[in-house]
Amino acid sequence: MTFKVTILGSSAAMPTVDKHHSAQILNVSEQFYLIDCGEGTQNRLMKMGINPLKINSIFISHLHGDHIYGLFPLISTMSLMGRRTKLKIFAPRPFDEIMENHKRYFDIGTGYEIEFCEVRTRENNLIFENKVMEVYSLPLRHNIPCSGFLFKEKTLPINIRKDIVDRLQLGIAQVVALKRGEDIITEDGECITSESVTYIPYQPRSYAYCADTQYSAKLAGLIQGVDLLFHESTFADIDKALAKRTGHSTTTQAAKLALNAGAKRLLLGHFSARYSDTSLLVNEARDVFKDSFEAKEGHTFEIQRY
Ligand SMILES: [Zn+2]
Ligand SMILES: [Zn+2]
Repeated sequence: MTFKVTILGSSAAMPTVDKHHSAQILNVSEQFYLIDCGEGTQNRLMKMGINPLKINSIFISHLHGDHIYGLFPLISTMSLMGRRTKLKIFAPRPFDEIMENHKRYFDIGTGYEIEFCEVRTRENNLIFENKVMEVYSLPLRHNIPCSGFLFKEKTLPINIRKDIVDRLQLGIAQVVALKRGEDIITEDGECITSESVTYIPYQPRSYAYCADTQYSAKLAGLIQGVDLLFHESTFADIDKALAKRTGHSTTTQAAKLALNAGAKRLLLGHFSARYSDTSLLVNEARDVFKDSFEAKEGHTFEIQRY
C-alpha cells in the first residue's frame, strides 16, 4: 500500500523564483490528501501529473495567505473539470465565512458540495478516518490559530503463517479464531497459541505536518515515533530571536523536536526567502538530527513498510 508525500511548495510567506507557497500532497493507498494550498497549487499539481479531481480531502493548517491563496482557484477548476463528489475541507474558523463569501461572488454554481470541517487549533483530536487511515489535529504555536496534522495508518489486520496452516491442515474456523487472538486445540490435542502463529504484516506508518509554529515541547509527545516529520524551519539558528517574534522555528529547533519525538526522518521547509543557500540550513539541522532533509519542491518522500 502506498504511503508517500510530494512537496508542491516549500517557501515561507514570500515565494522565490524556484520556491512556491506551502502545499503538499499525501498519497495513502492511492487516495490523495492535499495539505495546505498556497498560491499556484493547481499548477504545481498539474506539473506533477496529479489530477486535481483525485483529491479526497483538503487540510488547511491556518489562514495565512501563503497556506491558502491557492485554494479558491483550485475549487473553481475542479468544478470546471466536472467534479461531482463532495469535497471536505478541514480548516480553523473563520474559514467558513471566507468560503461563503467566495462562493457568493465567484463560485455561485459549483457543481459539487463543499463541506467545512472545523479544526480546533488548541486540541489534539481525531478529525478524519476511513478504512485505512486516521488524521489527528496537532496544536501549534503560531501568531494566529494554527494546527498541524498527524496522518496515521490504522493497525492492520493480523496474518497467520501459511506454513502452519498447511502443516496442521487448519480449517477456516480455526484460522479465524487464531486471527481473533484465541488459542486453539488441534485434533491431535496440540495447543496452538495465537501469538506463536500470527503476525502484523508491517508496522502502521505515520506522517506529521507541522507548519507554522514556534518550538513546542508538547508537540513531541503527540507525535512520538513518527516515521516522517515535516517541521517548518523558517530561520537559521542565528535568527532565533526573529523566529520567536514572528511565531516560527529555526533549523536547530526543528531538529531538536524531531529528536525529542523519536522521529525517523525530518523534512525541513518553509525557509525564509532571505537564505539563498538552503543547504546551510539543512546542515545546521543535521548537526542535531542526522536524518534531516530539505523538503524540495517536486520531490517525493516515501515511507516504506518495515
Ligand atoms: Zn507560512
Ligand atoms: Zn503562518
